[in-house]
Amino acid sequence: MSLKVLKFGGSSIGDADALRRAAAIVRAELPGGGLVVVSALRGTTDRLLEACAAAGRGDLPSAQAILGALRSRHEDLARELGHLEEVRPEWEPLFERLDQLLTGMAMLGEATPRGRDGALAIGETLSAHLAAGHFGGEFHEVRDVMKTDARFGKARPQLGAIRHAAAPWREALSKGALWVTQGFLGSTPDGVTTTLGRGGSDTSATLLGEALDADEVQIWTDVDGVLTADPSLVREARPISQMSLGEAEALSAFGAKVLHADSLAPGGRAGFRLVVANTLRPGASRTEILPVPPLRPAGAVTSVAYKEGIYLLRFPASAGLEPPMEAARSLEEAGALRFGLISSPAGTLLAVRPETHPAAEVLGALAASGVICEAGWAVVALVGEGLRADPVAALRHLAALGHEPVGGLLTGSSTVSIAFLVPESRLGDLIPRLHDRCVDGLLPSKDRAGQR
Ligand code: ASP
Ligand code: MG
Repeated sequence: MSLKVLKFGGSSIGDADALRRAAAIVRAELPGGGLVVVSALRGTTDRLLEACAAAGRGDLPSAQAILGALRSRHEDLARELGHLEEVRPEWEPLFERLDQLLTGMAMLGEATPRGRDGALAIGETLSAHLAAGHFGGEFHEVRDVMKTDARFGKARPQLGAIRHAAAPWREALSKGALWVTQGFLGSTPDGVTTTLGRGGSDTSATLLGEALDADEVQIWTDVDGVLTADPSLVREARPISQMSLGEAEALSAFGAKVLHADSLAPGGRAGFRLVVANTLRPGASRTEILPVPPLRPAGAVTSVAYKEGIYLLRFPASAGLEPPMEAARSLEEAGALRFGLISSPAGTLLAVRPETHPAAEVLGALAASGVICEAGWAVVALVGEGLRADPVAALRHLAALGHEPVGGLLTGSSTVSIAFLVPESRLGDLIPRLHDRCVDGLLPSKDRAGQR
């Protein structure tokens, strides 16, 4: 029997209408059972983090005010859907536990990563009980199977242990059960709660898909799949009906927001189909991400991605390789993303995006020590399986840049993308032009039509 895993994010279950839409999707997609993974209701994780921060400052009244507001919102929603009495016995101990955790943090004057994960877990668990009630499924605790290490806040999944623990799930689900579980959460070998990092519930869904030998994992979100470009810059951007995992990986590395990079690895290992679809328009186009690349014309670009906020660090050739390598290392340790480290006899260029406050501080210290550090750059990537067959096409596409001040070419191990640095201020003009030239001109007519 074929098994599907469906995942609904916070915005897909944020209110009663959204939950009703999600229930209709579950009925349509899982008539013979399957697994549904949900994250916390929209905004809940942010509110819980605020409550932890307040408690950690010793401000228990503010923390409890947030808890009170979260409780009313959840209870109002459950009442509106007619499930309040059903979930109350599950929810009461969760609210109590949250109150205890916040009280403990306030007493210690510290919200530890471990305590924070414990508090965040309550958001996902509240919504999973409600979703189970509303979808007519059975709640099962994800922490029983999602085994991780103890890196609180960004725990690493332990694949062997997950697969082993998932055996009873495989058994029940293969017999047609409909189960609902939490995204984002895991547990250490000792059973202490962890989280997989912000936005981690996509990764939960694909890891569970892998452990359960699923045929398909569907990520339900609020866009019509993966698009050929950012629609806020390119009016003609449209959904890509099929793409390869390699394309999806390159896109998420270079800025596309729709899929979390960590969520793609399980599909590569397990070979299931990964689908991105729109909860608001379930009948509209969706993107299928396939382990075997779809056929593309040589040279064709599937999508144009970009990321702003890049800093270029320039090191003279006389400095040698050690200082730029050391800078890259300390920036990454502080949470920066590295987009390129290019060295030639003429010097070394390091392209990074700070992402975190500590990384911004490291950057400031490097600038203060005399490293040339330019803000205001962006990385632009052309991504497509077609580039594998005709790498020179990528260079022809670059001709579309005309007289743009390109800061550097970034190559990597991926042969399905070419990326380069341009000033941020050029994006608004450049991205539509590149899309028009590289994507519109070359996509096969099937994908051109986009909508099904
Ligand atoms: N609720 C978590 C977050 O907001 C996980 C997720 O949404 O994927 O980060
Ligand atoms: Mg998400």
